[in-house]
Amino acid sequence: MSNLGSSLPDATAAAETLRVGFVGLGIMGSPMAQNLIKSGYDVTVWNRTKSKCDPLINLGAKYQPSPQEVAACCDVTFAMLADPESALDVATGENGAASGLSPGKGYVDVSTVDGATSKLISARIKDTGALFLEAPVSGSKKPAEDGQLIFLTAGDKALYERVAPLLDIMGKSKFYLGEVGNGAAMKLVVNMIMGSMMASFSEGLLLSEKVGLDPSILVQVVSQGAISAPMYSLKGPSMVQSLYPTAFPLKHQQKDLRLALGLAESVSQSTPIAAAANELYKVAKSHGLSDQDFSAVIESLKSKLPHSKTE
Ligand code: NAP
Repeated sequence: MSNLGSSLPDATAAAETLRVGFVGLGIMGSPMAQNLIKSGYDVTVWNRTKSKCDPLINLGAKYQPSPQEVAACCDVTFAMLADPESALDVATGENGAASGLSPGKGYVDVSTVDGATSKLISARIKDTGALFLEAPVSGSKKPAEDGQLIFLTAGDKALYERVAPLLDIMGKSKFYLGEVGNGAAMKLVVNMIMGSMMASFSEGLLLSEKVGLDPSILVQVVSQGAISAPMYSLKGPSMVQSLYPTAFPLKHQQKDLRLALGLAESVSQSTPIAAAANELYKVAKSHGLSDQDFSAVIESLKSKLPHSKTE
């Protein structure tokens, strides 16, 4: 692949000369693309719901009507899609990015998917002669806005090096983990831990309240001890008020637990805590909490569940 890597624009050329595509402009994709635009990159966007492109077009982004056309007019195209199905469809489906790719171009998928999906996307992209990098991110809405994401990358090293300046704008650190599938696996392990942590925190908040303690004080106590985590300090105060402003949609956390359990299954690793947590997120989904923040999982432990918070 080194010949393809060297056919990418000269690494010594000014980074701003790269034409960058961005497809998938949800909670994460929009601020990530915005940071690239604000850094002076020539960015072309596409999103299934076109209206989400408008704020970026107002900031100077160009628009193309399909992922194929974005990939065709850009040197490197980033994709930030909801789940394995949409990531695969946008990359390889009709009018998908692969149809617009050719040698010298690159495709960077920053969605959270399983390794098998990532490998399917990689194979289709590589068939075109283009390079592929999987680069799921750790960090949520605010880190995306602040350019503080952590990239978990794997795939073509030449593309990793080529897009490093862009990753440095959107993130605070980046890891190169080798073969395609390793970035996806790392991301799923991280989010498996996170989903279980949030479920456990939810149990603690409710138990403290049941025994007559003030859960707000529990949040403070936790924040000062060895189990302190930014996530608890950030989400705890609103969870105590039964408020769940969406940074990471609950449906995506459940998707990640489901994929992490599949990963564990593939190597016969026992993950009983994550399996139990997954059930709680499924209950929360069945009560209409899919689009709330994943901290709304606490509702699935309450004796009186909401009928539906999204209706
Ligand atoms: P989101 O706000 O739900 O955005 C999802 C994006 O996928 C939207 O652009 C949506 O388009 C698009 N999409 C969904 N189904 C599609 C389909 N069938 N065809 C084409 N486009 C489709 O989600 P997000 O929070 O930005 O998350 C995106 C990815 O990053 C997910 O894999 C998530 O797990 C991961 N992630 C999220 C966070 C977080 O804190 N939010 C953090 C790290 C990683 P429309 O606008 O048309 O619906």
